Amino acid sequence: MTTAIWWIRRDLRLTDNRALQNALSEADQVIPFFILDSHLLNVEAPRRQNFLFHNLQLLSDQLKAKGCPLVVRRGDPLAELSRLVEESGAELICAEADYSTYAHKRDNLVESKLNLKLEEGLLIHPPWAAVKADGSPYTMFTPFYNTWLALPLPGNPLPAPTHLKPHIDLRSEPIPSATETAGFPAGEEAAQRHLENFLLLSLGDYHSQRDRVELAATSQLSPYLRFGILSPRYVYAHFRPFLDNPLTHEGASKWLRELGWREFYFNIMDAFPFVLRCAFRENMRDIPWRDCPQDLQAWQSGQTGFPLVDAGMRQLAQTGWMHNRARMVSASFLTKDLLINWQTGEAWFMQQLLDGDPASNNGGWQWTAGTGTDAAPFFRIFNPVTQSRKFDPQGSYIRTWLPELANVPDNFIHEPWKMPADLQTSLGVQIGADYPSPIVDHNLARRRALAAYKK
Ligand SMILES: Cc1cc2nc3c(=O)[nH]c(=O)nc-3n(C[C@H](O)[C@H](O)[C@H](O)COP(=O)(O)OP(=O)(O)OC[C@H]3O[C@@H](n4cnc5c(N)ncnc54)[C@H](O)[C@@H]3O)c2cc1C
Repeated sequence: MTTAIWWIRRDLRLTDNRALQNALSEADQVIPFFILDSHLLNVEAPRRQNFLFHNLQLLSDQLKAKGCPLVVRRGDPLAELSRLVEESGAELICAEADYSTYAHKRDNLVESKLNLKLEEGLLIHPPWAAVKADGSPYTMFTPFYNTWLALPLPGNPLPAPTHLKPHIDLRSEPIPSATETAGFPAGEEAAQRHLENFLLLSLGDYHSQRDRVELAATSQLSPYLRFGILSPRYVYAHFRPFLDNPLTHEGASKWLRELGWREFYFNIMDAFPFVLRCAFRENMRDIPWRDCPQDLQAWQSGQTGFPLVDAGMRQLAQTGWMHNRARMVSASFLTKDLLINWQTGEAWFMQQLLDGDPASNNGGWQWTAGTGTDAAPFFRIFNPVTQSRKFDPQGSYIRTWLPELANVPDNFIHEPWKMPADLQTSLGVQIGADYPSPIVDHNLARRRALAAYKK
């Protein structure tokens, strides 16, 4: 009887899981194994951890129903894997490849001591599949994307195994308790339904609606992709027919481009791991940032006085998710209007986001700060009022997340500080008391940012 360990990390699914399938094809029995890695659990991200544990619990239930219970242990990955190999006599460990600095270090160490086999699955195409003619990595999105698009289509996703052989009885620790995350039901089945609904109901209009912050026009699949509850190849296979349909082609092409951004940022992180520590652009590493805890706190708590920025930050604080447009506007506000280091914002988002992912988060922050690869030029600074008028024209998003502004009329909702005093009184909302006055003058702040960046 041969045994393999399926080491689960950020691939919490049975469908289209090459690591699991490889373990099944190489051994008679498979031990699904999750390590509560102290290094990762010490990271302050309670909402993301709750989502992880909830999904892990459902995966554990699925495995139990198939007669092959999940084994959970707490500690250092190499120590726990070595112990399990000894207890079970497993000859092989199969896992899905991951590309952060920590993941590389951890896996290299395990590989040097144990028989670890890594399978691709976190991306549609693995890093280094789309490279320049001379084999070097792209640093600009568009040429990367064009090469990436021309890669041969990924094969069909693998079905979930119908049968798993029970393994020997092994000690397992309980999965930390978790609660349902509003808006993001846990589990593979829920995630698959979420994808189908998006494809059928919203993909066709994605190109024209995706920037409208008040609409649920984007997929909101990012937390599921973050933890591999859906494999990107599964997503791609289900989405592909919509690309060929003339009615949905435009929306589908735009959506594929967004999946392409995800892949691009993984490529950047893998090829240039230093981006997780400093600006990609060398000449953007010494910007004279401001150290202003008061402004930072106002930004974090959605109290800057700029409604779109504050609505985004409160959506994040209350749900763990934020619309992409609001992410760009609030990130621009922190780095340009407040001139606070993008890394401070990156860390805050990592703490708060359900989909917090080192590659995409770092990419998003460096893009907005103008310090990254394919960065918008640093002098392009979002105007939070113009953005608000354009992407939340009736102010519905603002009113949802800033209830104190619920009664403010449309013509003042983007700049409530311009409301005459008597109108404020009649509406029962005093700007400066019930909702803050703007903490900066955007035009002055813009000039300050340009001067600092130029330096
Ligand atoms: C400052 C900042 C920080 C960000 N941090 C993260 C993060 O930690 N994790 C994360 O997954 N995304 C991050 N993004 C990218 C983007 O905002 C989210 O992926 C997107 O809002 C998720 O919503 P959705 O699933 O509805 O996306 P959709 O519009 O439906 O797009 C589909 C999928 O494509 C991927 N995607 C879309 N846009 C981007 C993008 N610009 N960069 C990379 N991938 C993208 C996501 O996986 C997303 O689920 C960040 C963007 C910015 C500007």
